[in-house]
Amino acid sequence: MSQHSDTALVLFSGGQDSATCLAWALDRFARVETVGFDYGQRHRVELACRPAFRERLTEAFPGWAARLGPDHLLDAGVLKSLGKTAMTEDVEIEMQANGLPSTFVPGRNLLFFTLAGALALRRSAAVLVGGMCETDYSGYPDCRADTLKAQERTLQLGLGSGLTIEAPLMHIDKAGTWALAETLGGEALLGLIAEHTHTCYLGDRSHRHAWGYGCGHCPACELRAGGWERWRAAQ
Ligand code: ZN
Repeated sequence: MSQHSDTALVLFSGGQDSATCLAWALDRFARVETVGFDYGQRHRVELACRPAFRERLTEAFPGWAARLGPDHLLDAGVLKSLGKTAMTEDVEIEMQANGLPSTFVPGRNLLFFTLAGALALRRSAAVLVGGMCETDYSGYPDCRADTLKAQERTLQLGLGSGLTIEAPLMHIDKAGTWALAETLGGEALLGLIAEHTHTCYLGDRSHRHAWGYGCGHCPACELRAGGWERWRAAQ
């Protein structure tokens, strides 16, 4: 099965970072498909944001609508069975003795890229796009450039393919992520990301800030809000 270098598969969770990556991919590739994972996440709102964001994006950007192919939702529920994390169970969000936050789901991105790689092969996509970032991230080792580079090589060898991984946010901070969204789609895209993506670890959709919905205090909200404020201050 041949792969098309103009076809990308975006790992799209429904959060700010992967939504920005989706726009980035639509700006560059002739055909773009999305994949999401149901891993038993506590807050289902992120999954609910996925179709809503795609729909609004195609309404607001007809040029991108012509490039956007189907969405795929894969079952990664085995992650939940592996043990307690703050993303899958009612566990306190805190730094653990091993130096990793309790929101870290061990193996999550490794599994996601493996599943996405297999799907990409079936869909003839040559590029995987992910929103991982090691600049002002939460300390997750599977978000580092080295990890992705090694996994790209593993997928190439293990799948016998020329599949590559692109992580356009890897070396920019959260302020840079907002700036990238504005470059790609102006105020219209910023508005869609604020309204129709979800980042808050507590699943809060009742408090609306300029940067979107969230509790405003969890580590994910602090990153998203801090980036917004730094980017706005630089305008
Ligand atoms: Zn929050």
